[in-house]
Amino acid sequence: MTLKTFFPAFLLAAVTLTWADAQGTLKTDGHKVVYNAVIYTVDPDQPRVTAMAWAADGRLLALGTDDELRAAFPSAPARDLEGRTVIPGLIDAHAHLYGLAQSLTQADLMGTAGKAEILEKLREQEAGLGPGDWLLGRGWDQNDWLEKQLPTRDDLDRAFPERPVWLRRIDGHAGWANSAALERVERDLSGDWQPDAGFIHRDADGIASGVLIDRAMELVQSKVPEPSRPVMARAVSEAIAVMTRHGLTGVHDAGVSRDTLALYLELIERDEFDTRAYVMVSGAGEHLEWLCARGPVHEPTGKLVARSVKLFEDGALGSRGAALLADYSDDPGNRGLLFQAAEPLREDIERVLRCGLQVAVHAIGDHGNRAVLDALEQALPRVPENPGRHRIEHAQVLDEQDLARFSQLGIIAAVQPTHATSDMYWAGARLGPGRLQYAYAWRSLLDSGARLALGSDFPVEKVNPMLGLHAAVTRQDADGWPEGGWQPQERITREEALRGFTLDAAWAGFMESDVGSLSPGKYADFVVLDRDVMTVPEREMTEVQVLETWLGGKPVFVKAPH
Ligand SMILES: [Zn+2]
Repeated sequence: MTLKTFFPAFLLAAVTLTWADAQGTLKTDGHKVVYNAVIYTVDPDQPRVTAMAWAADGRLLALGTDDELRAAFPSAPARDLEGRTVIPGLIDAHAHLYGLAQSLTQADLMGTAGKAEILEKLREQEAGLGPGDWLLGRGWDQNDWLEKQLPTRDDLDRAFPERPVWLRRIDGHAGWANSAALERVERDLSGDWQPDAGFIHRDADGIASGVLIDRAMELVQSKVPEPSRPVMARAVSEAIAVMTRHGLTGVHDAGVSRDTLALYLELIERDEFDTRAYVMVSGAGEHLEWLCARGPVHEPTGKLVARSVKLFEDGALGSRGAALLADYSDDPGNRGLLFQAAEPLREDIERVLRCGLQVAVHAIGDHGNRAVLDALEQALPRVPENPGRHRIEHAQVLDEQDLARFSQLGIIAAVQPTHATSDMYWAGARLGPGRLQYAYAWRSLLDSGARLALGSDFPVEKVNPMLGLHAAVTRQDADGWPEGGWQPQERITREEALRGFTLDAAWAGFMESDVGSLSPGKYADFVVLDRDVMTVPEREMTEVQVLETWLGGKPVFVKAPH
């Protein structure tokens, strides 16, 4: 194995000098070495090494064998990793960091077994609130309770007579309010009127009982104040801590406002942002205009790049909002809906391209995907100066004819392996066997020459990227169902999955010269694992624990010993 080294220009003089002395050693301060590790670099030039060194600026200097590195840096502090496994810091190429932060400001009611437990969780949550703050929660499901009946405001009023309480059901299609929250609604909720596309539950006297369905939720939701900036700043830092605990050193935040971007930059300034974010701003409106005027943002610490715009072309498969070329198999006559016709979609995409930015378009159904590919095909030659790397987010259901177009047009498929293993229980009913063949078609996309950037879509799915690696490789849920994997012809290898969560995610975010592999010159962003995720039995992949997460040569998470 040859020692691969990289010395920044400013170090070269020092190298020449120190190599000239009797010791033959490099005495530049601040170097660190780790050795006796199983290091998967995701660098094709040098895929496996046992040791690596980095400089005080957090960038890797060299990778190789223990002997090579100890010889090259004899005076640098060295740490024995005792044979543990090291992989590059994982990058979630499609998630919602701000969304995760928002969810942390609310009580998590998922899996609660009844109202008593919910009240207990709400009291805990209330402890952190100021006097006028709303008490918010999400995730309740009366099907998990003994009585299985919809709750009422009375259930909340005894414990919270004055503070407004507003709790979203697990599916997001119902909300449960107490009287203090209902009192904020301007319109009189009693009587027998109902809003369009919504429903107000009422008691025998015609008084609103507290549960509001679908569009009726807006009556209360519109009164909930935005959390204050200090609350959100703390929540973003907490959300990043959740990421680092799971070995993530990077995230592509799929659709945020200009204000959120400003908050991230403020946190970086205060050194309270222990991750690297690739930010997509929302929509072709004001946020695009602002980013277009400002130009691509490459924050100098390498912690934030913003040069992408998120658009939507259809909805989701579960709610039959994904646009399909033929009817839903379980809903004849329904093909979902395209959000935009061909011409306005192409215009939006072209506007993004002319700003020199990347476009990332949400498309789930085969019709949605075709519409985006068509629009890109037309727009790309009109703006040849744009640097490219455009992406389709999700790319879940593809027509066979469209598969090869990703690679032909240079479009990245930003896919989420755990969506497949969450959807597999009902996706067959929606699509039928013919279309299932090209659903979540990762193997086919890779074989066609397309690049896969892997993610989770947290907080829709869990943050833990080990679940994504496992789902990509097995197409099974965490319990190992179904045997052999769902549509197993679309499984990918562990090496391909790791690359999708590292180097190709970095590439999709224009960050591959800084991160994505453990290579000389890139940041020392890496994760130490308790076992070898590349060789453990498949069923154990979900149990792999992160022991340490390092960002730019500094530890940002260290698991406490038991
Ligand atoms: Zn998303």
